[in-house]
Amino acid sequence: MAKPTYQRPRGTYDIIPPDYETWRWLIETFERNSLNAGYARISTPVFESEQLYTRSVGDDTEVVTKEMYAFEDRSGNRLSLRPEGTAGIVRAYIENGLSNRPKPVKLYKIEPMFRYDRPQAGRYRQFYQAGVEVFGSAEPLIDAQVIALAARFLRQIGVDFSLQINSIGSAASRKTYIAKLRDYFQPHLKKLPELAQAQLASNPLRILDSKDKSLQKLIEGAPQIIDYLDKASAQAFQQVLEHLDHFGIEYDLNTRLVRGLDYYTGTLFEFWGSHQGMQNAIGGGGRYDGLVEQLGGRATPAAGFDLGLERLIAELQKKPSQIPTQKPQVYLVSIGDDAKAQAFLVEQQLLDAGISTVCELTRKNLADQLARAAKLGVEYALIIGKKELIDQTVIIKEMASSNQEVMPTAKLAAEMARRFSVT
Ligand code: AMP
Repeated sequence: MAKPTYQRPRGTYDIIPPDYETWRWLIETFERNSLNAGYARISTPVFESEQLYTRSVGDDTEVVTKEMYAFEDRSGNRLSLRPEGTAGIVRAYIENGLSNRPKPVKLYKIEPMFRYDRPQAGRYRQFYQAGVEVFGSAEPLIDAQVIALAARFLRQIGVDFSLQINSIGSAASRKTYIAKLRDYFQPHLKKLPELAQAQLASNPLRILDSKDKSLQKLIEGAPQIIDYLDKASAQAFQQVLEHLDHFGIEYDLNTRLVRGLDYYTGTLFEFWGSHQGMQNAIGGGGRYDGLVEQLGGRATPAAGFDLGLERLIAELQKKPSQIPTQKPQVYLVSIGDDAKAQAFLVEQQLLDAGISTVCELTRKNLADQLARAAKLGVEYALIIGKKELIDQTVIIKEMASSNQEVMPTAKLAAEMARRFSVT
């Protein structure tokens, strides 16, 4: 086949029917879970000032230095497509005075993100995250509650995961630890890849995040942050783990977990799927107690997570489908051109009554149309031929039993609504 004139940009994808069924189910399940748990949906713009991200995510993080879709608009404003969701929500929290609401303020979001990443399986330049943010409490119970929400959702959709958890403690304990890390990596400076050399100067924590194979042995021997947590951080983290035990949520203590964004403080976690290799993180999150203040608001502790929807879908594809599909309820069969116009009229009446109806521009015979109705899985085929047109009636054929009855057209919509319990 010749290449089409226009192709989607590298690293993006189209969701074509029926694939959107899976997306809709994921989104609906996530929404229902979040609403049940008292979260309200928030939506922020797809682009924000570039500085919002450089400040919050961090100047020397990969997300900012390599992956931002930053641009200048026609008025010379520096903007960026959103590489992650938290910074924009914190901006909106401050700007809209959400801090005046009863705490904790619980928000959820389902939004596209944009990163100029090297595309590969599970890694896109436009991808979707579903997540939550909770503002206004530093209680370790909140960390556990947030993790439990994500875990419940993953269990509900049938995705197997392992929860990886760590704490990077307070700014003070992180400082001591970073000094230790520098001392550890410094003697190996010459052998380090270029990126790690730069990170050693700017933020050695980043080296722990490195996927570079040649570095893994060295990273394994590095001091662990957990040994440098100050008392308050260690206690808070201990409590988070105890609450998770109490909730019956299993976890792996992963002392290498640092996550790629600067704003995290305290508890950090990731959900790993069963995919082998680097792209197996299906989500992550943690505490970011300093970010609201850093972006100009009142000091407000906060925690949240984000799950990558494409990664969840990849996990689901490994299992037999349990995704409910939306089936039409009735199919309109018409015989002859005059009956066809009548069928389209009846379709309008049924749709007005809230019945999911299929009415097609077909020239096929009765048997073929009934076969199509059976394939679509409808409960009733509604047949209109010459006689029914004259009598102003419809034949209702129940597909399962093949029973047929005749019904005046004027009564049909109300009768179907009654049968399908549409209120
Ligand atoms: P992060 O905050 O960067 O760890 O991202 C949170 C989650 O979003 C990850 O665990 C992935 O599931 C997903 N994610 C991040 N980057 C991408 C990407 N480029 N393509 C698809 N999913 C992504």
